[in-house]
Amino acid sequence: MTTIQPLLPNKLDNPAIVYIVAGHGGFDPIQKEYVTNGKRATHKGAEMHQNGTYYEGWGNRIAADYLAAICREWGLIPIRIHQEIQDTTPDTRSNEIDKYVRKFGSALAKRSVLIELHSNAANGTAKGARIYTTTNNDNSDILESHIRKYIKQLEKQFETFVLGEYKQEKNYTLIAQSSIPAVLIERAFHDNQQDAELLVCPKFNQAQMFAVVLGIIGFLNK
Ligand SMILES: [Zn+2]
Repeated sequence: MTTIQPLLPNKLDNPAIVYIVAGHGGFDPIQKEYVTNGKRATHKGAEMHQNGTYYEGWGNRIAADYLAAICREWGLIPIRIHQEIQDTTPDTRSNEIDKYVRKFGSALAKRSVLIELHSNAANGTAKGARIYTTTNNDNSDILESHIRKYIKQLEKQFETFVLGEYKQEKNYTLIAQSSIPAVLIERAFHDNQQDAELLVCPKFNQAQMFAVVLGIIGFLNK
């Protein structure tokens, strides 16, 4: 990633906010189980979260933590909207974001974005990242194009990684209800073993979330 020359945004005199949502639920330490039905894939013999199984909600939270840490490092204020354990509805998450956006006012809303993190599943052979916006043409599409540019570069760094060629448009609840620019990132396919191996790789998680942060900074500096 050393070839990328990021522009640091002005920091505290010109704050920017990144609302971070990790999809689904996490691990319940009392019940000792993953709280979301489905949203997992087992790859026999592979090093996954537990006994060869990748748990999407757990992986989304790991990515969210990388994203939050890198945001902070680069002068962006991260606000996590998901609960660490409990799964919450898109409406709950949306209301939570709205509360902050209203409280912070319109000037800061112009320097705020929403990033929702997931991994994908299909038939076990589909692979790669997908970045979703809604069917509206708005600032979310511009945010998408900035993030796409940097995530695309990961193909050079990680042999098995691919980014889907086109922007995907679908009115997923949270991004559709968002009053600020919002994208939903399907980081890779967790039911594809090569992709799942990327999703549990700390180097990949860090690089992919760094790419997201560079995209956000590019968008804010546009
Ligand atoms: Zn998901």
